[in-house]
Amino acid sequence: MTELVVATKNKKKLKEIKIILKGLKLKISSLSDYNDIPRIIENGKTFRENAVKKAVKVARASGKLALGEDSGLCVEALNGAPGIYSARFSGKDKSDVKNNLKLLRLLKGLPLSERKAHYVCAVALADKDGLVGVVEGKCNGIIGLELKGRHGFGYDPLFVIPKFKKTFGQLDERLKHKMSHRYHALAKTRNILNKYIEKD
Ligand code: IMP
Repeated sequence: MTELVVATKNKKKLKEIKIILKGLKLKISSLSDYNDIPRIIENGKTFRENAVKKAVKVARASGKLALGEDSGLCVEALNGAPGIYSARFSGKDKSDVKNNLKLLRLLKGLPLSERKAHYVCAVALADKDGLVGVVEGKCNGIIGLELKGRHGFGYDPLFVIPKFKKTFGQLDERLKHKMSHRYHALAKTRNILNKYIEKD
């Protein structure tokens, strides 16, 4: 069976990726299974660049098919910030709670109509011979006025899905996996993977 190494140590991200890619004939592992792969510095200028860098480096180091994923939140009123800096928005001692509180502070006083945002997810696939493909997915929402819900991770307790008037933190995770940025990017990835597996 083809092995796919997901270039992340983020357990929650890995869990989502595994759920969305369920059913493919793949053995999915991650960087937690490859302790000897050197740390990858995310210094790209776009989600895409970072995803490609992660996939290519891990494929080269492991000799396996690798998936690089880079994602984040873009807030209109902040000119697209935190964007590629989403994970480290609150600085060195970052945490999801600190990131969320910083976001609330920056948007203080803005009505819901001015709190439009979207999540972006770029996914790249690479093998030992180089890049296999890159795709992107997007999910629109609104930054809520307070943290709500315990599901998901990152900015999910603030990310309101207008159709449900609930945050990803409040919604059943199965719903998130059918409409998130990660779902949209991985749905496209599935097509590439299916062709790749056939050839392998
Ligand atoms: P990365 O590991 O560098 O791709 O950082 C992604 C960061 O973007 C996470 O740490 C979160 O802050 C944010 N993010 C990406 N996807 C999601 C999501 O599905 N829900 C909530 N936050 C997310």
